[in-house]
Amino acid sequence: MLAKKYLQLIFILAFGFLCLTENSYAANKPDGDCDIFAGKAEMVQPNQLPVGTTFWGFYKCSSCGLETSSKPSGNTVACANCGSTHTDEKFYAVSVGKVGVTQDQHADDKNSAQAASGKKWTCPSCSTSNFNTATACEQCGAPKPGSPHQYLGHEHEAIPSADQLVQKNPRFKGKKKIMMWAAAALVSTSAIIGIKWGFSSYEVTGTVAGTGWQHTVVVDKFTQTTDEDWANQVREQQPVMPQGGRGEVPGKFNIRNPHTAVHHYQSVQTGTETVQVPYDEPYTDTETQTVDNGNGSFTTQTVTVTRSRTAYRSETRPVYTQVPVYETKVDYDTFVWLENYRRNLKGDFPKDADPLPWPVVEAGPLERLRHFSEYKVILTYNDGKNKQSYEVTPATESDFRSWKPGSLYILVKNNFGMVLNIKPLNAEVSSETDF
Ligand SMILES: [Zn+2]
Ligand SMILES: [Zn+2]
Repeated sequence: MLAKKYLQLIFILAFGFLCLTENSYAANKPDGDCDIFAGKAEMVQPNQLPVGTTFWGFYKCSSCGLETSSKPSGNTVACANCGSTHTDEKFYAVSVGKVGVTQDQHADDKNSAQAASGKKWTCPSCSTSNFNTATACEQCGAPKPGSPHQYLGHEHEAIPSADQLVQKNPRFKGKKKIMMWAAAALVSTSAIIGIKWGFSSYEVTGTVAGTGWQHTVVVDKFTQTTDEDWANQVREQQPVMPQGGRGEVPGKFNIRNPHTAVHHYQSVQTGTETVQVPYDEPYTDTETQTVDNGNGSFTTQTVTVTRSRTAYRSETRPVYTQVPVYETKVDYDTFVWLENYRRNLKGDFPKDADPLPWPVVEAGPLERLRHFSEYKVILTYNDGKNKQSYEVTPATESDFRSWKPGSLYILVKNNFGMVLNIKPLNAEVSSETDF
């Protein structure tokens, strides 16, 4: 057993040595066929190869599904795994999972004509993929379509992709549209249902649980004061005192003390500044690209590409400063109405007099009276489990008096919680109150 293992090891080592010498021989060949790989690791990036290098790539075998080399052996390409000659026409330069090109892929003299012959042709009889250099099928001998000896068969229409089917076929397009409309309809109907639910109303019965009122009298006095303004806005005017709280003129008098003040600011150019403005500058560059020859081989080429880089140009811009502009102001005397004092009365109306009383205030000379009223009605009702209250603020005393404590009202509410309308329980007798 052990002896057998030992022999195996020797065999492997010997084989490895042979391979190494073979490689070094190829790399040092004087005709330069293979020295593009010399001094480099086994894998070389296609764009690191000298310009004009042609090498063979890979394809996925349509028979066995495994990746295999597109390098021809003789006049045909056969799958290294299953031997199929029905090569797929989709070639790629670098093996899946690998990082570069190997020396083994190099197009040598034996197959460089095939590489240069362009796109391959497919045999109409046996589907074998043949190089353009072949005038008859390498597999079955059928003549190349379009060759002088051959009746030109009808060209097969390309099988449309799923995308093309959708674009071509109006029925697919129609379906797509219908789906879109259905989705839009669904969204809008649910929105409408939601809004309808929110605005759909229901009624609850409320009771007037409380009322309150307040009458306020504010007493203002025509008072002398000092103010200031821009001189060109002030015209001398004598004041007129109010008679019975009206007919007064505040006036502007004792104009005095002219002084300068900042009226506004103005932008003034005080100089220039030079700034560097970035912009995209196009420039041409060359790069090595791998070109697909359409037959499993690839050739490195130098192509000119336009790139863009950030450059800067100087731009001179004006510099502005905010400069104050002065004008003349003056002080003057005038009169204003100032609140002197206020009196109020409040209560809840059932016990109170009709009409509700106001504070008794006597207006002195240079005084005026202002009257303010506030009325409040609280309705309570059961909405589901919760006891809720709603406040009504009647505008006038007569409206306020129509809300009798303890009387019943119908509150119309929507699902958003808003009270839309309130009406007395026996609606045909009383007038409605809208909100
Ligand atoms: Zn295969
Ligand atoms: Zn054939």
